[in-house]
Amino acid sequence: MRRGTNSLEVKKLNRNRVFRYVNSLSETSMPDISAALDISGPTVLTIVKELKSAGVVEEVGELESTGGRKAKALATVWNARYAIGIDITKNHVGFVYTDLSRKAMKHERIRKTFFYEEQYFQEIAELLEDFISRNGIPKEKIEGVGIALPGIVDREKNLLTYSHMLDLHDVSCERWMSHIPYPCELLNDANAAAITENIFSRSIRSNMVYLSLSNSVGGAIVFADEMLSNDGIQDNYDGRFMYMGNNWRSGEFGHMVIHPDGETCYCGKKGCLDAYCSALRLAKLEGGNLKAFFKKLEEGHEEYRKIWEKYLSNLAIAVDNLRMCFDGGIVLGGYVGNYMEPYIERLREIAAGKNIFGGGGEYVRVCQCREEASAYGAALYQIERYISSI
Ligand SMILES: [Zn+2]
Repeated sequence: MRRGTNSLEVKKLNRNRVFRYVNSLSETSMPDISAALDISGPTVLTIVKELKSAGVVEEVGELESTGGRKAKALATVWNARYAIGIDITKNHVGFVYTDLSRKAMKHERIRKTFFYEEQYFQEIAELLEDFISRNGIPKEKIEGVGIALPGIVDREKNLLTYSHMLDLHDVSCERWMSHIPYPCELLNDANAAAITENIFSRSIRSNMVYLSLSNSVGGAIVFADEMLSNDGIQDNYDGRFMYMGNNWRSGEFGHMVIHPDGETCYCGKKGCLDAYCSALRLAKLEGGNLKAFFKKLEEGHEEYRKIWEKYLSNLAIAVDNLRMCFDGGIVLGGYVGNYMEPYIERLREIAAGKNIFGGGGEYVRVCQCREEASAYGAALYQIERYISSI
């Protein structure tokens, strides 16, 4: 136990552990909680009472008995709190909502071009209200709204410091909150998608680098080990920590140089990964339609096959670099990640050939959430904050 940890903190910690345990199962009982968490029966009883009066846990009948008195079944009141995630891109807006179950209850994507004027913020607020009422979400139960953006976000100040895609500098969350009547938090889109991946891959206790291959290339660094909670490693998601860097610019893998003096990147440097592996590079071959590119590739389009092989060989350089730096699992996400499944073995093969430590390329895998991962992660961020406060 940490020096200075007092009984009040221990109580809060135990209450949180009990809630998370109940929340991880469809139903459980007080004896089960006591045994699983090694907390005394009377303490569990007190905590369960508190959670029931807070309205987040309820009795749902009796559990099947293996002899003796039947135990009361307990479960989370899933709909006690809700959170909504919004993903803002240059041409679209995505919406997702979740509750305490942390499942994506509904997702939507609307074509909407970004423009930096009051009218745009107002329209997003109206679309949000429409989304809320169409899905019957009780407003008083909304914990908050997470807003994922393609840019650098200073999480302490809740400020978008820079976005190349949206051509913005220093836009505070206040701009959103003056139109949206719920607590809002800004998040980098790749960080938000990595939160989603964390929840999907809960069973895999592995350090993870998330490489987002969208219209720009970005990523996130997630440590599985709770003991790494030192300075610079912020935000706890379900027992994992995301490394944010000293200036909130960690995981900008898109600007890792893979070919010195190579192609010019939008950042002005030459040879950045972004210049080779952004989704735009493939989509532009089909007038901006990435799906059409992959459809033709699948149908055996010869020219696209060559382009794709080159893409994979460039991606393998980045994947190998990340493996050398972090020695963790690498998850491919973003727009291209969603189409990567049939080609992952080929990528693994190329990447394995570069690994000086030998072994195969199994450490690279495809993201598990294929739809609205950033919006979903932004919603999860808000619900996780609530769960942490229980
Ligand atoms: Zn660059």
